[in-house]
Amino acid sequence: MKISGENIMIILSSPSGVGKTTLTKKLQQKYQNINISVSHTTRSPRSNEVDGVDYNFVSKKKFEEMINQNEFYEYAKIFENYYGTSKKNVNKILKKNDIIFDIDWQGTKQLSDYKNSNIIKLFLITDSKNELKRRLLKRDQNTKEEVEKRYNSFNEDIMHWKDYDYIIINKNLEVCFNHIEKIIQNFKKNYFSSNNSVIL
Ligand code: 5GP
Repeated sequence: MKISGENIMIILSSPSGVGKTTLTKKLQQKYQNINISVSHTTRSPRSNEVDGVDYNFVSKKKFEEMINQNEFYEYAKIFENYYGTSKKNVNKILKKNDIIFDIDWQGTKQLSDYKNSNIIKLFLITDSKNELKRRLLKRDQNTKEEVEKRYNSFNEDIMHWKDYDYIIINKNLEVCFNHIEKIIQNFKKNYFSSNNSVIL
């Protein structure tokens, strides 16, 4: 089975705190044709997060119902909460636009199983573990325990970088952003020329 749609799918994964959300939002602001996939999650909203914009916040019961109804392309349990990508949301976006997923390595593996040729997988890292800790503490969105959990998952996360097409170091946001833009533009160019379609 394939995920249907005429546009490309961009996966951006990284250990927590590397800057993925900022970069994803920046891409969407600059490119109207790139839409963010808004995941479902059972984690509680942070003070700056809006339901339906940052995530669709749902109960564990609702999430498990959705799993049973086969409503997700992928889902994973991360830091004791469920996160998942709803088929309905993705299919709707892909009819008209490209889509970007901010998901972890488990979700990336599951989306890769669909063997779509229109997927590009990017993995973002900081240049050191100390820098990651500094950013996690600076962003002040998590409790001390959550910072510790996210920091400790770094080793596990980076073990999966070989499942990605590109590894990008986010040392400087602008440089990193330009790099991602170029990778996406090239991928689109090659994808559409190999499919004899028109690039919009
Ligand atoms: P956070 O709680 O910091 O927003 O996200 C924790 C992790 O969950 C991040 O690595 C993020 O990429 C991942 N994540 C967010 N949404 C999804 C999703 O729908 N599926 C999967 N597999 N991971 C997700």
